[in-house]
Amino acid sequence: MDKKKDSERILAAVELAKKAHEGQLRKTGEPYIVHPLAVKKILEEWGMDEDTIIAGVLHDTVEDTSVTLDDIRNQFGESVAFLVDGVTKLSTARAGMRDIDTYLPETRNNFLRLMIALGDDIRVLIIKLADRLHNLRTLSALTPDKQRKIAKETLEVFAPLADRLNMGLLRVELADLAFKYVDPKRYEYLKDLIEKYNRSASKSLKKIEGEITEALKKEKIEFEISGRVKSVYSLHKKMAKHNQNINEIYDLTALRIIVDDVTTCYLVLGIIHSLYTPMAGRIKDYIAMPKHNGYQSIHTTVITSDKRVVEFQIRTKEMHEYAERGLAASFYYNEQKVTENYKKGKIEHLPMNLLWITELQMTAAALREGKKVDLDKLKLNLFADKIFVYTPKGDIVDLPKGSLPLDFAYRLHSEIGDHVVGVKINGKISNLNKPLENFDIVEILTSKNQTPKRSWLSKIFTPHARSKLMRRLNQEGESIVPPKKK
Ligand code: MN
Repeated sequence: MDKKKDSERILAAVELAKKAHEGQLRKTGEPYIVHPLAVKKILEEWGMDEDTIIAGVLHDTVEDTSVTLDDIRNQFGESVAFLVDGVTKLSTARAGMRDIDTYLPETRNNFLRLMIALGDDIRVLIIKLADRLHNLRTLSALTPDKQRKIAKETLEVFAPLADRLNMGLLRVELADLAFKYVDPKRYEYLKDLIEKYNRSASKSLKKIEGEITEALKKEKIEFEISGRVKSVYSLHKKMAKHNQNINEIYDLTALRIIVDDVTTCYLVLGIIHSLYTPMAGRIKDYIAMPKHNGYQSIHTTVITSDKRVVEFQIRTKEMHEYAERGLAASFYYNEQKVTENYKKGKIEHLPMNLLWITELQMTAAALREGKKVDLDKLKLNLFADKIFVYTPKGDIVDLPKGSLPLDFAYRLHSEIGDHVVGVKINGKISNLNKPLENFDIVEILTSKNQTPKRSWLSKIFTPHARSKLMRRLNQEGESIVPPKKK
């Protein structure tokens, strides 16, 4: 990004924030202003517009200082005030969901507020992500308890959100920073593993790079080639999927080839396949069929002459830019053609498949107009294969879509799973066959006298809960009495 000079408005915002946060300290011991200035820098790096940068500088003033929303509106205009308000609402909504003990109405209202804040202007979310990124970078100053909580929330909510916006660089940084706190041993182990693997592969990768370069030059193709290093957290997730067998992970080593246009992408694919043997079933054309978040690229895995498994990712410059910076990149490109809609964060031409944002905005608008929205049917659509449910205390638990109450119970603790006698969903008695839905508040009812039942196997969806139940059933052998009908 070219280094632009701060405008008068940005300078004025920095002055206001400095004055407002005067005397406040961060947990790191630094003056508080360090944080909003770091958020400002991140938003500049992402190429965000001036209003977003100003709102980033001021994002903590209304919540934590004597500055009011009116002050901000008077000095910086409606749009900035709107964004600051959205970020403030977002953080109170989230705090509310974590802390409340008496749950139902509050949690629902907080969720509504969250929806409205996000749906109003997607830039609110982008500021929040910049805020979270800096907080994670400085997480070591907090108590271990808080570190874990924030890190866990980042893995469960913010990193997937970054992914849904196709902000690849951000997703990787958030996930790896957070994972280090959630499971430090595993993090170090996998990081080592990746480094060792890359070291052992580096010689043959050089050779492959040379062969590709020669072949592409012969065809007079302009290109850039580089290695991409797999992130620790994504390896962790993949290993879990493949029973921890590293030999089933085919993209540990990947080379990225960036060219000028789509036709050339396919040309390069053909050249690679003429040099090496492609692995069956490992060719993915995300150019013709982009991922849900708009990601585009061709992936193919080949076996080289020295029997190495290498993944190639082929894409154009634009696709590469978008894969790394996602929605932020679209804001940047749209800045020239500023429309009223753009100013409100409603880009007219949403990048490829980001229509879920439109959906979110329509829902928010309906809620604002006081229309009834059935929250249970609300298609938030932010996370394709996951649902998020809450404990009565407001802790978030993420489960695969299709999970049932027993999956939730075993996820909390096997002691809870083993003693389930019933479930309350959103405050009402429900039954163990009912699939959980996004944002359900789930309370598991237990009894000391309960023992695990074989019949529960049909009321379980996740392998995790199944293996826990199976283990208990095998321990108890046939001594388990079948459940009595009530
Ligand atoms: Mn902040």
